[in-house]
Amino acid sequence: MEKIIALCKRRGFIYPGSEIYGGLANTYDYGPAGAELLRNLRNLWWDNFVHKRDDIVGLDASVISHQEVWRASGHTSGFADAMIDCKNCKYRMRADHLIEEKTKEKAEGKSIGELEEIIENNPKITCPNCGKHDWTNVRKFNLLFPVNLGIVEGDQSLAYLRGETAQGMFINFKNVVDSSRVRLPFGIAQLGKSFRNEITPGNSVFRTLEFEQGEIEYFFDPEISNWEKLFADWKKLMWDFITKKLGINEENLRWREHDEKERSFYSKKTEDLEYKFPFGFKELWGIAYRTNYDLTQHGKFSNKDLSITDPQTNKKIVPHVIEPAVGINRMLLMILADSYIEEKERIVLKLNPKLAPYKAAVFPLLANKPELVEKAKKIYHDLRKNIVTVFDGRGNIGKRYFAQDEIGTPFCITVDFETLENDTVTVRDRDTMKQERVKIEDLISLIVKKIG
Ligand code: ATP
Repeated sequence: MEKIIALCKRRGFIYPGSEIYGGLANTYDYGPAGAELLRNLRNLWWDNFVHKRDDIVGLDASVISHQEVWRASGHTSGFADAMIDCKNCKYRMRADHLIEEKTKEKAEGKSIGELEEIIENNPKITCPNCGKHDWTNVRKFNLLFPVNLGIVEGDQSLAYLRGETAQGMFINFKNVVDSSRVRLPFGIAQLGKSFRNEITPGNSVFRTLEFEQGEIEYFFDPEISNWEKLFADWKKLMWDFITKKLGINEENLRWREHDEKERSFYSKKTEDLEYKFPFGFKELWGIAYRTNYDLTQHGKFSNKDLSITDPQTNKKIVPHVIEPAVGINRMLLMILADSYIEEKERIVLKLNPKLAPYKAAVFPLLANKPELVEKAKKIYHDLRKNIVTVFDGRGNIGKRYFAQDEIGTPFCITVDFETLENDTVTVRDRDTMKQERVKIEDLISLIVKKIG
């Protein structure tokens, strides 16, 4: 993990948040390469789950939402983590994570009493910071970030930063039905920031206060569609996206079903697609059958009728949903971890070319030969019209290859003296390190073909 974090900083993927002011825990900023990778990932997700489907539409709801949204959904009362503090050094941690770290047993979903009992009776559960076994009681902390709107403080002006994007889909359910041509079964998808006041033990962007979610609420009539089949179909779509579109190694993936204790009370079935991060198998993408709990709750709290008539049965129903929910930043960390490879003489990010921040880099063989620099710049400007390309004229060629390998750039194009004679360049492949000589006029079609 330290090596990946160091590469992210060195090559402009991820920086610690507010770094020049000493940092702000659990926040991160994305640098030039990271911003491109994040954008490519979002686009791939959106293209796959919205543009390529005729039964899913997009939404972009507000980050700040009415307090009633979160009362209706149950978040103001139930969206809380159990925390514990070390009395000796004041280190604070999630009690379930502490148990899981020290005993390797699953503890998520256990009650406060159960967590306390396990910690009290197991002297091996010591503080990861100071090594003492001297804990406070376990207490619940709500994860929602409250915001006060306007200048008057108090209950009337209280709103929340959304803790999940899902609620945006439920509160706009009627709007979408009335303003588009969706018919059951159909999905509403959203990509956007969510906020949770979490305490975490590091691990880069795996768990942060502010993160981006990609969520789909897939609405259906349980009398017409079999939820178990839909659930299985969605699991396959998620698996295929990760393995085929992102190119993640299947051996690092597994499914884990939540037992009754861990599952939210409104969910009939929940499973996590887990990835083997350098710190162990952890949730990447959850799928839950949320029944029609959320729409029913919003119907009650808002006093609005959120039922629709299913044209197939002519019955009025409040549709049920299956929800695949992924963290885009967590997915980005998985991609970095999965593509990070140390070879004898180099470190290389073997990123799927579709995700790579830059598809090609153009170099003049020698930086002090104006005729080479000028020619290389011309090729760079021409390529840039079609594909995201960088120009690098610093240092020697070996250093430039080294840097581009660490960023994951699939193709490096070098302009040398032969180029000036016959308009050909060398194209070096990131993964094989093999070079081929290519006519300048064929460059774009070759790269586009290889990216796929
Ligand atoms: P966890 O058990 O890891 O806290 P969760 O079950 O609360 O996650 P969901 O509410 O199902 O997560 O959110 C869907 C997805 O959003 C998760 O699978 C994860 O990828 C991502 N996610 C959740 N919390 C965070 C966070 N604090 N930082 C980054 N990503 C997150």
